[in-house]
Amino acid sequence: EAKRSGGGRHMLFTPSIKDRATRRGALELELRQALDQRELFVVYQPIVDIADGRIAGFEALVRWQHPKRGVVSPVEFVEIAEECGLIGPLGEFVLESACWQLAAWKRRFGADAPKMVSVNLSRAQLQDTAIVRQVRRALNLSRLPARALQLEVTESMAAQGDDMRDRLLELKALGVTLALDDFGTGYSSLACLGQLPIDVVKIDRSFVADAESNLHKRVLIEATVRVARSLGMSTTAEGIETEGQAALLATLDCNKGQGYLWSRPLEAAAATQWLAVQLNRPALPDDGPIAAA
Ligand code: C2E
Ligand code: MG
Ligand code: MG
Ligand code: MG
Repeated sequence: EAKRSGGGRHMLFTPSIKDRATRRGALELELRQALDQRELFVVYQPIVDIADGRIAGFEALVRWQHPKRGVVSPVEFVEIAEECGLIGPLGEFVLESACWQLAAWKRRFGADAPKMVSVNLSRAQLQDTAIVRQVRRALNLSRLPARALQLEVTESMAAQGDDMRDRLLELKALGVTLALDDFGTGYSSLACLGQLPIDVVKIDRSFVADAESNLHKRVLIEATVRVARSLGMSTTAEGIETEGQAALLATLDCNKGQGYLWSRPLEAAAATQWLAVQLNRPALPDDGPIAAA
């Protein structure tokens, strides 16, 4: 390709548009089979109460272990799934896996079990009325109370049009918790928060990353926490990697935290073992080894 177009040297290193289209086309075909062939699975990252470090719940994150390409990022394949009509079954798989897993932890750990699991929804999922049915079904199958399920949407999705708002209201009517993911990265502002039927604001990792050195970011976090609280919402900080960041976010009155400081996302068995250690419960033989995903 580089040769034919007589193109510059950079073409040897930067994937051409054609190469990217080819990868995309291949991934689309392969994604269709991946669900059946159990190449997709869900990993779990703990969310903790930032004041005392107690486990509040887990965020479910989908993974694709491709037989030849290795791990493909959800950032890449979720978008492909949306565009080729596969997000329905993919989303349902994540919802049902996550609810099933939390129900299993409840059986295993009883009153000490995490109280909720949080599942990301993509734009296409929120646009489709089927999502309400899917959520109800996942709750019924797992027999979880609706309050045990948190659904994450992004600012741009939530602020977009009446359809999306209506869908969010329908979901909220089921009793689930709604969280605004990646807050601070979109176009909406603190002023928009009051217009959304949201329970939790997740402060984006980009704010947390340099909150200690950047006064501007710190002030924005502080304002977000204050406005959220005055609207009856709680806050969760994403991407906390250091004790210093955790301490600062606690000082800023952020409610919950999530990040590598506590744990990377873990495969189900490893998350169960992580819980057993945290809760000081003896591990069972089938808990499996701890391995980062
Ligand atoms: P997100 O929902 O904002 O998820 C948080 C991302 O930050 C995850 O990346 C997680 O692994 C990463 N992360 C967590 N703690 C830290 C940290 O301390 N430092 C750093 N550097 N990163 C951290 P991941 O799993 O690659 O997911 C990327 C995005 O893909 C997610 O962002 C979400 O938007 C999307 N996604 C993942 N799973 C699903 C899913 O099941 N459905 C949908 N629709 N989207 C998903
Ligand atoms: Mg999320
Ligand atoms: Mg996020
Ligand atoms: Mg994100």
